Amino acid sequence: MTGHNREGTVTATRVLVLNSGSSSVKYQLLDMADGSRPAAGIVERIGEPGGAADHAEALKTVAAELAARGLGLDSPELAAVGHRVVHGGTRFTAPTLIDDEVLAAVEELAPLAPLHNPANVTGIRVARDLRPDLPQVAVFDTAFHSTVPEHAYRYAIDRETADAHQVRRYGFHGTSHAYVSRATARLLGRDPAEVNVIVLHLGNGASASAVRGGECVETSMGLTPLEGLVMGTRSGDLDPAVVFHLARVGGMRVAEIDTLLNKRSGLLGLCGDNDMREIARRMAEGDAAAQLAFDVYVHRLRKYVGAYTAVLGRVDAIAFTAGVGENSAAVRAAAMGGLEALGVELDPVRNAVRGSAARVVSAGGSRVAVAVVPTDEELEIAQQTYSLVTGR
Ligand code: ADP
Repeated sequence: MTGHNREGTVTATRVLVLNSGSSSVKYQLLDMADGSRPAAGIVERIGEPGGAADHAEALKTVAAELAARGLGLDSPELAAVGHRVVHGGTRFTAPTLIDDEVLAAVEELAPLAPLHNPANVTGIRVARDLRPDLPQVAVFDTAFHSTVPEHAYRYAIDRETADAHQVRRYGFHGTSHAYVSRATARLLGRDPAEVNVIVLHLGNGASASAVRGGECVETSMGLTPLEGLVMGTRSGDLDPAVVFHLARVGGMRVAEIDTLLNKRSGLLGLCGDNDMREIARRMAEGDAAAQLAFDVYVHRLRKYVGAYTAVLGRVDAIAFTAGVGENSAAVRAAAMGGLEALGVELDPVRNAVRGSAARVVSAGGSRVAVAVVPTDEELEIAQQTYSLVTGR
């Protein structure tokens, strides 16, 4: 078999990471020997006019783009394909080598992630068809949260009903929370096993997690990615009775309420924009709706920081990551302001400096370090995949 030497050990050093989302396929080719990334790209607007017809066609476009650069799936340097899979349910708590049975199990989890798991499954199928001898590994978004204890993952509803329908907190963005919590420990020159970190992943989707000694003990997303923080288009936490009220009094159907809470809420629902840059621009012009959206967003973040401080008991660091977390000094300043009683003191000058490297933005005397730590889900998926395939 290619990519192996005579002793049968893997000599190939590259991993192709595939992230088949609901309407796009992102890919990156990473070389684990020298850290280079020979290729990266995205195929967007799947199923829309002008885009790929479906995921199968999108994956074939990816394969063709790679082949055109001499980096095709048949390349002997390729050691494995790492697939991001959104929902691993309770079964998948670690990266998993994919076979027919695993693929069927991922497919069976579709009711828990109807937009994502079917797309992930198609990505896996097409990649396997194109290169049947190549190891394919599933890396699950839920896996890092599998250490959350039952008193934190169980909702206080009738146990039989909950268990019959697999209703519990699962949490998402796990690959990012895993990577960032470890990178934060490294930034502080500490062993991940000895630090407690609150990770705030603030992208289009947003989630918080409490990580104790490298293990996740609480996270804000739940059965689905809808719970928790205010997001670009999702509401995050609300009274579940809002749903009954909208159905009974508002005459809305379940599917309409689903769309409302997932696609027309959050920052977008509050002010008509879901991009924090646009909101900042409008706030500078004195726009009241943009200001309110920002205030609601930041208030929710502060509540979670307080709650997770109580959960962890001792917090060593708070890490901001993803599009908003890495780039918006205003969100960081507003979220961390006035938290001196919790041992948090931001350094306004450090916080205002832009950059792409992991950095500490708290004041020298702050008991809790505040850090900006760029996330790298592709690298984390590639490392987990490579390590599973090579045992290294
Ligand atoms: P996704 O969840 O799609 O991976 P990202 O982590 O890329 O999202 O984050 C996207 C969001 O990051 C954008 O919607 C935007 O609000 C925010 N963002 C990106 N750059 C900046 C910036 N310079 N200032 C403030 N917000 C930014």
